[in-house]
Amino acid sequence: MKKPVLTIVVPCYNEEDILPYTFSELKSLMDEMVKEEIVAADSRILFVDDGSKDRTWNYIYKEMLKNEYIKGLKLSRNVGHQNALLAGLFTVKVKSDCIVTIDADLQDDINVIKDFLERYNEGYEIVYGVRKSRSSDTFFKRTTAQGFYKMMKSMGVELVYNHADFRLMSRRAVMELERFEEMNLFLRGIVPLIGFKSTSVYYDRKERLAGVTKYPIRKMLSFAFDGITSFSIKPIRFVLFIGCFSFFTSLLFALYFFLLKFFGNTELGWTSIITSIWLIGGLQLIAVGLVGEYIGKIYKEVKRRPKYIVEFDAYHSPLTLPIKESDSEGYAKDYRKILKSN
Ligand code: UDP
Ligand code: MG
Repeated sequence: MKKPVLTIVVPCYNEEDILPYTFSELKSLMDEMVKEEIVAADSRILFVDDGSKDRTWNYIYKEMLKNEYIKGLKLSRNVGHQNALLAGLFTVKVKSDCIVTIDADLQDDINVIKDFLERYNEGYEIVYGVRKSRSSDTFFKRTTAQGFYKMMKSMGVELVYNHADFRLMSRRAVMELERFEEMNLFLRGIVPLIGFKSTSVYYDRKERLAGVTKYPIRKMLSFAFDGITSFSIKPIRFVLFIGCFSFFTSLLFALYFFLLKFFGNTELGWTSIITSIWLIGGLQLIAVGLVGEYIGKIYKEVKRRPKYIVEFDAYHSPLTLPIKESDSEGYAKDYRKILKSN
């Protein structure tokens, strides 16, 4: 049987602290897999530099010169984890039979990539890596993440529980993914929509060895909020429901006040008025804000801006790399020499 060409796509944003470790781990895994004839010899590892501000690109560049498995893709600026993943996937899809995506910090167990390939050979087009437990996460991250999955489920969005972006996709699945043209791509929600034969592989997630999380609370919240509003209009329905509810209650109140006026004490309380003003005002602002959020999404979608821009694609054409000595600390110059000698 022909061995599949595998590409491992690794998004990196300011990962200089951990990259040396990541390189060596992934390289030895690749060596092993090629030796064991699990994957074809022209399999590659693509590091996507998502507009890092540290020496991430230089590290990738240097490594690329040393090892033929390693390839680099430099994006023109930081576009976020999800878009960096897409950039990687779409860049390598033609030359790869299957693609694995994994975070640069290797918190996910790279050894299960072999299991992914086994499933792929059994005919699965999408293999999800699923964490057995979240014991390595902080209590805060664990509970917020679990709350998020539950909330998404209640809104009718099917996510694979405890699956982050560690998965294998066949070329066909990636081709189909490309047809989802929306701007607000939340991969964990979209990939299950592709369908095809899918399965999960379970593993233990480790702690980050170096560097810091690139998902501080602010980014996590906006990620969750994007996830919800890109997939579900339930929040808007909810607002409508609250609106109807408060409208009908206010009718009841009106009736009550009239009855009081004609049959009882006309000294109507200031408290009830002021409370309802604040209550209704607040609800209205929330409602308008929420609707605005969706309109904002529509606005973003209709513009159809590119999700990422590639600065250097060292995967396809190494010669597009910078050739000025000042660029990338002169590595490019060495690179040209190597090319000439080959
Ligand atoms: N990442 C990226 N662009 C960003 C933020 C993060 O490419 O704007 C990458 C990051 O380098 C890492 C992965 O996305 O490889 C996941 O980030 P991180 O490990 O910090 O997230 P966590 O595991 O804490 O959720
Ligand atoms: Mg991580």
